[in-house]
Amino acid sequence: MKLYEPSTIKLIKNKYGFRFSKSLGQNFLIDKAVLDSITDGAGLCKDDLVIEIGPGIGVLTQAAAEKAGKVVAVEIDEGLIEVLRFTLYGIENVKVINGNILKTDLKALIEQEKGDLLHVKVIGNLPYYITTAIIMKLLSDHIGCESITVMMQKEVGDRIMAAPGNREYGAISAAVQYYSIVNRISEVDKTSFMPQPKVDSCVLRMDILDTPAAAPEDEDHFFRVIRAAFGQRRKTLLNSLGSTGAPKSVLAEVLDKADIDKSRRAETLTLEEFARLSDELAQKGY
Ligand code: SAM
Repeated sequence: MKLYEPSTIKLIKNKYGFRFSKSLGQNFLIDKAVLDSITDGAGLCKDDLVIEIGPGIGVLTQAAAEKAGKVVAVEIDEGLIEVLRFTLYGIENVKVINGNILKTDLKALIEQEKGDLLHVKVIGNLPYYITTAIIMKLLSDHIGCESITVMMQKEVGDRIMAAPGNREYGAISAAVQYYSIVNRISEVDKTSFMPQPKVDSCVLRMDILDTPAAAPEDEDHFFRVIRAAFGQRRKTLLNSLGSTGAPKSVLAEVLDKADIDKSRRAETLTLEEFARLSDELAQKGY
């Protein structure tokens, strides 16, 4: 069954009487070339356990199952579980779980499902209303995957890829670049989805680093400092970091010790500089 054909989706819609849920970010892929760009971009092979986020009616699940050893797909919409039972019928190496990806213990799930498979890869056409929450969870929970290849709105992709000094560089860019090396796999036009979203999309691949790109003493503290610094991104660090509770006199000393000019803004700091800043602030008890 060609699940990427609009006529197939309409047929399934009528058979099961479901409606596309806007609030669950349901925009289904109808473009075979885009499907291939995700499975090829992820470099799927028979040694892989694939975790798929939000299978929808199973179009990407089906494509991934052809290339991977096993696919475990987590879908929140209970109504789609019956549809998936039909569309994925007879595909032995797929398991569908009804659940919220943000509340799923992925580390435990992976340990349970991995068996003899050698690699763990996450893929998905993400529900856009929780793109950054999903990516942050996948990275900060240290779930044991080696790459994440996902579709997201283009502007979020641009932010994730942005380098220090770029206007788009923010807390999400710093976090993703701390944990992984990011590459853009493809740009995707809105016409590749049904129903059509308002925004264009892109597919990014994040290869998880064995050792993160900087070495703060306390990772949680490091991320709190990053969030504080970007909380008021137009302000200088001396002002934006006030939200850590540290008085200006302490901040001036900390920035000095970290060798960071106090008139700089968060968007100009490299990960190493954020790590130094975090360590110096922690030393002062903030
Ligand atoms: N993979 C399908 C495709 O490409 O056609 C569907 C992609 S659609 C953009 C996003 C999917 O994620 C929907 O099926 C939606 O129901 C599901 N979803 C939304 N929120 C979720 C959550 N918190 N946990 C798991 N799945 C979720």
